[in-house]
Amino acid sequence: MSTNTNNNGLYDVADLQHIANELFKALPNEFPKEISLSPDHNDHPKATKVVETLLSTGNLAEFTPNTSLQNPTTAYPSHSPVSGLGVSPSVGNYANTGVAGLYPVTDLDTVFPNDKNFNINNPNTGFSDVNLKGSSNDNNPFSSFALNDNYLPFQTQSSSFESELREALASVNTAFGIQPALTLNPAEAQNSYYFLENNPFAFDKKNSFPTAGKGSSFHGIHQLKSTPFDANLIKKDFPILSEKVNGKPLIWFDNAATTQKPKSVIDRIAYFYEHENSNIHRAAHELAARASDAYEAAREKVKTFLNAGSINEIVFVRGATEGINLVAQSWGDNNLSAGDEIVVSNLEHHANIVPWKRLADKKGLKLRVIPVDDDGQILLDEYAKLLNSKTKIVAFTQVSNALGTVTPAKKMVEMAQAVGAKVLLDGAQSVSHMKVDVQDLNADWLVFSGHKIFGPTGIGVLYGKEDLLNDMQPYQSGGNMIQDVTFEEIKYHKAPNRFEAGTGNIADAIGLGAAIDYVTKIGINAIGQYEHYLLEYATKLLKEIPGVRLIGTAANKASVLSFNLQGYSNDEVGQALNKEGIAVRTGHHCAQPILRRLGVETTVRPSLAFYNTTQDVDKFIETLWELKKVRF
Ligand code: PLP
Repeated sequence: MSTNTNNNGLYDVADLQHIANELFKALPNEFPKEISLSPDHNDHPKATKVVETLLSTGNLAEFTPNTSLQNPTTAYPSHSPVSGLGVSPSVGNYANTGVAGLYPVTDLDTVFPNDKNFNINNPNTGFSDVNLKGSSNDNNPFSSFALNDNYLPFQTQSSSFESELREALASVNTAFGIQPALTLNPAEAQNSYYFLENNPFAFDKKNSFPTAGKGSSFHGIHQLKSTPFDANLIKKDFPILSEKVNGKPLIWFDNAATTQKPKSVIDRIAYFYEHENSNIHRAAHELAARASDAYEAAREKVKTFLNAGSINEIVFVRGATEGINLVAQSWGDNNLSAGDEIVVSNLEHHANIVPWKRLADKKGLKLRVIPVDDDGQILLDEYAKLLNSKTKIVAFTQVSNALGTVTPAKKMVEMAQAVGAKVLLDGAQSVSHMKVDVQDLNADWLVFSGHKIFGPTGIGVLYGKEDLLNDMQPYQSGGNMIQDVTFEEIKYHKAPNRFEAGTGNIADAIGLGAAIDYVTKIGINAIGQYEHYLLEYATKLLKEIPGVRLIGTAANKASVLSFNLQGYSNDEVGQALNKEGIAVRTGHHCAQPILRRLGVETTVRPSLAFYNTTQDVDKFIETLWELKKVRF
């Protein structure tokens, strides 16, 4: 590779830009097809790393930087890894390209010594992706930036917060008995699930999966590989996370609304329709047996996941909303009478307010509300004052969808039961972020939705204590839920069939089982710890942006970062983020009472899951800083 030199013997910028663009064109899709070496562009971290590396090895001479870049604006946080370079600083891992005014004094071959064999049709060739574990190599001059096998991208940075984070993540891996990484070669990383053995045919026959020799192309869950928690690899299990939105890689920060689905879930549902599809429970033929087995195996998985005492305590419903309505009508309508009191919290989603309000209005019941403090935390003393012998049911969420507050659920259940009240716990926002053990929590019912835990839409779970469920009236009636029907008398099944009238959502229940397998194999506690640190990381950076008001600042939070940005409407912020491929929710999040309590009608609400990375967070933060530069 050769370039012209200028009068000072330094290489010509136009030539260098040309060479760089040839190089970048050959890269896989996520790289920009065009980079610019002009001061005003902020192209790609790869370009930054080239320049940083050359600078640090003395292979680039610095020439007078553009004045606008010499004066790092106050708009950027101080922990930027490039803030000391005299070029425009940036956020987190995404250093500004900062390539302006830098003349190369070396051949690019020496920058990419092992990365020269590009094949444009094969994304596995080319130089290492810094974000991909196992694709770095020791001779790579970027190795100080690239991931070592055990590190997430941000872990190579040096701020004290990030070293803390690194230690914490190392402890996630050791705490859960995860061994040092197996090196995945790029082909493996493409094809296999993060933690799974790459054997498409080795399935558990009990779960109606294909067995060796049947020739199915199903690539399902088989066995945990000893691999550290690595969100970058986990991301690869979710096909939609490779989508581009507005030309940018999709960053999915709308997890509180719904989560994305791993390939294992998508494949499991397809497998059901290709090999098992039948109605369940009522036929002598092979496919009915396969479908019934798979459906009941999914129930068993939910039972184990929640640590319920019996599969009879697991009722498949459409989602959390249907579960709550079921309890309100089947239990509430038959057991409550005028003057009785229902207690809900101020944090509730509309799904846990409206059914109770309707019931209260219909039957002359009193609806009482547990207040929260200005951080969005339950006021336990006030809660205690609401409880009395008239309190018949307390219904509250374990995690607030609008603020992320984690409520002291176990304590609140105890307090309610001490006055003889029943408790319904809304687990819609908790089950995907923390261990939910129904025996330990001891709530009488718990509901959640499959689609918020990486499973399909249209399926969810009502857990209920077995005796209680069997005491309750059916919700809907028809086939499947009866033992015997005459025109004189109808005998109902016991739970769970008692509450599963008609043909249920068989395929999606099985898909939910696959989602639970996925989460279980990664480990819900490891997920919780990783997300906790990711949330801390994001919160810290968000708070540094002038004009950001965080809505919901509880000490104990999960996943959610609600905020307003001064000078912008929430929709404007959402649209600006969308332009960068970042999906967040804006609006009232079906939780108007709590937002009004905190003085707002709507918020911008990013919500995190375990496939999000600090790089996603960095991009999000960077976009907000860009907005702040325009309008203060
Ligand atoms: N409860 C909470 C806390 C939620 O966040 C939601 C949905 O956002 C629901 C209940 C209702 O869930 P679904 O719409 O899946 O029934």
